[in-house]
Amino acid sequence: MPGSPEEMKLVSNAMSNATRRKIMTLLKDSSMSREDMSKAIGQTMLDYHLQLLQQAGLTEIRGEKLELTDFGRNMLEPRNKKPVEPKKDLLGTKPIEVMEIRQFLPCIADNSKYRIIARMEPPLDGAVKLLEPLFPRARYSENLGVLIIQKGSIIITVYSTGNVTMTMISDTDEAEEILNDLMKSINDAIGKGIKAPPADKARVDHNEIYKYLPGTNCRICGEQSCYSFAIRLMAKETTLNKCTPLHEERYGVNREYLQVLLEYL
Ligand code: SF4
Repeated sequence: MPGSPEEMKLVSNAMSNATRRKIMTLLKDSSMSREDMSKAIGQTMLDYHLQLLQQAGLTEIRGEKLELTDFGRNMLEPRNKKPVEPKKDLLGTKPIEVMEIRQFLPCIADNSKYRIIARMEPPLDGAVKLLEPLFPRARYSENLGVLIIQKGSIIITVYSTGNVTMTMISDTDEAEEILNDLMKSINDAIGKGIKAPPADKARVDHNEIYKYLPGTNCRICGEQSCYSFAIRLMAKETTLNKCTPLHEERYGVNREYLQVLLEYL
């Protein structure tokens, strides 16, 4: 699920606790009711542990049952497990039939917004990488085996396992509209076959980067102004972490945008 450092922090915090890891392990083979989990783990702080796991997108509640999400399952699997083998073309890739929202949670970077975890069926498996050309701003991460798509302020992460996450969502209508567009774009590409048709790639310029910097010209980064820092970032002559004010909580959303924008340089 996580595409941003804030989300990664949430996941590592959730997984840093032995009780929470035990809950995940118990859910690995089958779903469980809350009562059965309480018998297995004990009642102490169970709600708290379940809440943290759910916030991190590692577990979910379906009906009366607790379940491990695909993402949670991936996180439990051995680190040396090979990522899914990327396909060479779209031949044989089945169109997506179902795209549904599974969880609707507060956004970590901005609590006036939401993040969602959705599920597509059938999963795209190794075809995910081939879809990168479809979107003006998209990057396939070889390490994570995920496609990260930027749409305005929204970051969409598509997993080969079928999970889709989105951050900075206003409401369910917006989430559903984006998911429908995503499904249509992917199915059109699968219908055309072989290779995904390339979209015009959006360019990033220093003005766009500057827009998300604090704009205080404090010079902590060693530059004369935020504007010169933006130019140096564009030229890859400095790094984002030199702007320490960006680590303040109020700039969390800006930092997240900038991290994604810099991927496109
Ligand atoms: S440290 Fe950040 S806020 Fe300060 S001048 Fe540099 S870019 Fe601007």
